[in-house]
Amino acid sequence: MRWTHALMPAVALLGACTQAPRTPHSAFPLYADRPDDRQCLAKLGTTRASFTPLPDRYFKEGCTQLNTVRLSSLRSDDGSLGVSNLASVGCPLANTFAAWARFGVDRAARQILGSELVRIETMGSYSCRNVAGSDRLSAHASARAIDVSGFVLADGRRITVLGGWTQGTAAEREFLRVIHTSACRRFGTVLGPNYNADHANHLHLESSSSAFCR
Ligand SMILES: [Zn+2]
Repeated sequence: MRWTHALMPAVALLGACTQAPRTPHSAFPLYADRPDDRQCLAKLGTTRASFTPLPDRYFKEGCTQLNTVRLSSLRSDDGSLGVSNLASVGCPLANTFAAWARFGVDRAARQILGSELVRIETMGSYSCRNVAGSDRLSAHASARAIDVSGFVLADGRRITVLGGWTQGTAAEREFLRVIHTSACRRFGTVLGPNYNADHANHLHLESSSSAFCR
């Protein structure tokens, strides 16, 4: 596929690392052509998520977008799940996120809150930045983490991490803890309000080989 201008604005909107991406090594963008990557995209297709594969990109400071997708929507048992504010997401992370959204979040919303999930609100995924207070690149710098901030239900309720974790109704607090626990079973690293004040308003969900759940 050729680089298209249709893809350019999405890249330009991707958070802090918008300055001067390196010139691609060839005149053509580098789409995933590795077997594992193709397999990952095929698997994401079977979840019936709506997504667009994005070309591989290399940025300054070592930030990368490799085998990423622009995720437009996911599927629940009965319908489509919207996702807000997500641009570039690594394919393995997108697969884990799709499964968590359907089997972890939507089903918990039905059981605990009595209404199905229609949208997951996020604070984004890719961002070229270091882990706060360190000189180590964040998983966000390679599109391997999503910050989830809230959930919209079919009955119109909106439950946010910031508003619901300690101040929500008993059911909302239970819902947020249940989906936090289910995230810990699926993602390598999960950081929420119990971790530190930086995470008071979101759950950091990261593809990693570790098992860190706070
Ligand atoms: Zn994060």
